[in-house]
Amino acid sequence: MTVFHVSTVFLLLGLLYLILPITVWMALVKQPSRGITLWCLGGVILGIGLILVGLRALLPVVVSYPIANLVMWSGISIQIAALRYSLGQNTSIRIIFSLLMLSLGAFEFCRQILQNSVLRFTCSMFIFTLAFTYISYLGWHISKRYQLRSARWFSFVYSVTSIVMFVRMSRALVGLSEPDVISQGVDSYLTVAAGFLISILGNFAYVGVVLEASTRREMDAVAQRARQDESIRLSEQIAQLERQRTLGTMSSSFAHELSQPLTAILMDAQAIKSSVVAGESNMKEIVESVEEIEKNTYRTVTLVERIRNFIRPAQNEYERVDLRTVLQDVANLLAYEIRKNNMKIDLQLDEESCFVEGDRVQLSQIVLNVYRNAIQAMQETKNKRIMVTLETVDERVVLRVRDFGSGIADELKDKIGQPFMTTKKDGLGVGLSISRTIAEMHSGSLNISNVVDGGAIVELNLPAFQS
Ligand code: ADP
Repeated sequence: MTVFHVSTVFLLLGLLYLILPITVWMALVKQPSRGITLWCLGGVILGIGLILVGLRALLPVVVSYPIANLVMWSGISIQIAALRYSLGQNTSIRIIFSLLMLSLGAFEFCRQILQNSVLRFTCSMFIFTLAFTYISYLGWHISKRYQLRSARWFSFVYSVTSIVMFVRMSRALVGLSEPDVISQGVDSYLTVAAGFLISILGNFAYVGVVLEASTRREMDAVAQRARQDESIRLSEQIAQLERQRTLGTMSSSFAHELSQPLTAILMDAQAIKSSVVAGESNMKEIVESVEEIEKNTYRTVTLVERIRNFIRPAQNEYERVDLRTVLQDVANLLAYEIRKNNMKIDLQLDEESCFVEGDRVQLSQIVLNVYRNAIQAMQETKNKRIMVTLETVDERVVLRVRDFGSGIADELKDKIGQPFMTTKKDGLGVGLSISRTIAEMHSGSLNISNVVDGGAIVELNLPAFQS
């Protein structure tokens, strides 16, 4: 019952195998990947092997049997390597080569030494069955790992092919069919059908796998970006809340700071009023009082401006910032706190300006956290000094703030800088972790450690501004 000529069908199948991988490669050329290249290369090599089988009647036996098989097995091995690559697994060329040589040895043993065509055919079919089963397993693995439906189809197509190959092999082994793929008959048509199945459906399913995987990757990337944006937004909110909280705890200091110039303004205004009312207006004195009022109003405005600047949300607008002015501004903000506690900030700043690129508000927040921690750590100590050094070393700006306080508590040593680690009754434990995050966002680092002869030292390291 010859419906078609099996050799011709093998030739067609071979051509299909040559054309389809090239089409696949062209279709996916916009998504260059080693996996796709390997898959298509393997397909083309498999196609050449199939053509050699199709030309069996015309070619010498050694070409159309062992060499054709070797070429087909090599093509399939390369496709296996492509799938393993998609799973992030490397394939050793040495192992592939050894397996190919082992298979060839077994095939040639059956063909030349035993001269047993059934065993030769069974050996070849067995190798195909094993390879297709493994491909089906890899496809299933890919579908599980990346949740790809097309990989499930891919796996299904290859498992059907393996079953067909197995049936074909078993029937030849028990003598129910001819031990040659190109012999006529139902069994050969089965093999041919399986070949068409993997050449067409297999290749299309592979395209599906690649496209689905890349869509999934894009979706994951978008979701990841959204999560990152959300977490940045949240951490900015936390940072802002922490700034507000810090300023809130300092509100009595600010009230005190503001009351001084305001009281002075009031007194000057009253003095002017009384002298005008009493008709003893001395122009020189009035001008002096007005100048005092001006000076104190300016002080008040500066302080309010400083607080306002600090409360506003970070802009994430990076500009050239001189860390020396940040250190000075924050020290001014804490002036009352420092005076009240009989403390002293000793600023030893580099002669040269220390410029970094960053968000001024965020950098001020680091300095405020560090100063505030130092002030709180020195409540019980005699030496109430904060030593601040700032220098530029190898294109990095290094700020060190050393205090003579209690040092980092033993229970905190391993967890220092982790969020919500605090030893203070009213502490939130987020200051250091926020400061570290800000430093990292500025491509820098922040570390805190104890000093041998007492107190703690914080080191902030940032890249210097490149003009
Ligand atoms: P908070 O000040 O709200 O506790 P931080 O994250 O700023 O939050 O600090 C966490 C903890 O690190 C503090 O509770 C304190 O125990 C410790 N710490 C920070 N800076 C110093 C310092 N200069 N000296 C001693 N301990 C410090």
